Amino acid sequence: MTNVSQQLFNQAQGVIPGGVNSPVRAFNSVGGTPLFITKAEGAYIYDADGKRYIDYVGSWGPMILGHNHPAILNAVIETAQNGLSFGAPTELEITLAEKVREIVPSMEQLRMVSSGTEATMSAIRLARGYTGRDKILKFEGCYHGHADSLLVKAGSGLLTMGVPSSPGIPDDVAKHTLTVSFNNLAQVKEIFSEFGHEIACIIVEPVAGNMNCIPPVEGFLEGLRAVCDEYGSVLIFDEVMTGFRVALGGAQAHYNIVPDLTTLGKVIGGGMPVGAFGGKKAIMDYIAPVGPVYQAGTLSGNPIAMAAGLAALNELATGDKHQQLSDATEKLAMGFKAAAERNGVSLTINYVGAMFGFFFTEAEQVTSFEQATACDGEKFNRFFHMMLEEGVYLAPSAFEASFLSTAHSDEEIDFTLAAADRCFAKL
Ligand code: PMP
Repeated sequence: MTNVSQQLFNQAQGVIPGGVNSPVRAFNSVGGTPLFITKAEGAYIYDADGKRYIDYVGSWGPMILGHNHPAILNAVIETAQNGLSFGAPTELEITLAEKVREIVPSMEQLRMVSSGTEATMSAIRLARGYTGRDKILKFEGCYHGHADSLLVKAGSGLLTMGVPSSPGIPDDVAKHTLTVSFNNLAQVKEIFSEFGHEIACIIVEPVAGNMNCIPPVEGFLEGLRAVCDEYGSVLIFDEVMTGFRVALGGAQAHYNIVPDLTTLGKVIGGGMPVGAFGGKKAIMDYIAPVGPVYQAGTLSGNPIAMAAGLAALNELATGDKHQQLSDATEKLAMGFKAAAERNGVSLTINYVGAMFGFFFTEAEQVTSFEQATACDGEKFNRFFHMMLEEGVYLAPSAFEASFLSTAHSDEEIDFTLAAADRCFAKL
């Protein structure tokens, strides 16, 4: 029972639209009452009714070291003692920027912002300012935050609500956003052959995580790099989700492709609101105050957020955490697959590094938006609720990736797989 969550949800709806401050949290996709959370520790979250769940959402990504990691918590407490915000530069900003550049060397220079949305919005403006072109190319089902020009055929909550493009965006803005199918290089080449010299940039989630989890097919990212080189367009990897997750150096390290600009979020703040964008110095030189493209933020580089992010990255870069993360993800994915087979359920699982997604489908492989959206969403919703009842909190939508953390040990994975076995049997 979720009595307290239900009460809080009723109350929330009176004062907050839909009762939530970000749509996917409302369980619109899976139905039912969202859990109101009171605390979290390691691999677990606790709801307002006092029930404990193994958490595979991890605040939608940032909690790659598990919740309330002591190194991050201590960094936040210590830094807060010196004041919460100055609106003036601090040494911590340099230290974190240098750490990010060490881990993601293509980011020769970077700027901190306070969310993934700000990072992608700013990167797009910069690419347009740098190239003097207006058009951008994105992929159907990829989500890059909610800036106007990026809310066209987008994934995540928009897919859940069946509004892939949002009202409120003038046609004059949307017309500059070209969209093609993820993993379809032929379409990219075709559109470039028509508009290539007007396209400022391609922005892509190198592993799509907002239409479930879809890795790039072989040659796709390489092809995007080549097309951008040919037409003088900027290649932006939106690594808000994949950064520090599919490998320490992100998807660009995992697939060995160097983008011109990268956007980061989530992990870079260790749970505090942070994002960043950066890349080639020649492009970053166009940003104010050095260059003419304006971009700013009162709370950008906030000391508490910088300290949390630095603690998270220092910790993540120690030992072979990413081997541990991908081994654990593989064990979980293989276990889900085996449990589904045992119970006669058709299931495909995609996973890269510490992100994964389920597809209730007969298809052996899911590599496209069309396939992802054709899966049995109703079955996913039932499975989600059964798992929740068992004490396992998966991403509450068939169109979102789920995440592991270093706090997910064999114990949590075994518990999850035993629960999945029971749930598949009932499906
Ligand atoms: N890009 C990607 C790939 C994302 O997954 C998200 C958020 N899920 C964003 C951008 C936007 O980040 P934020 O919600 O912090 O604005």
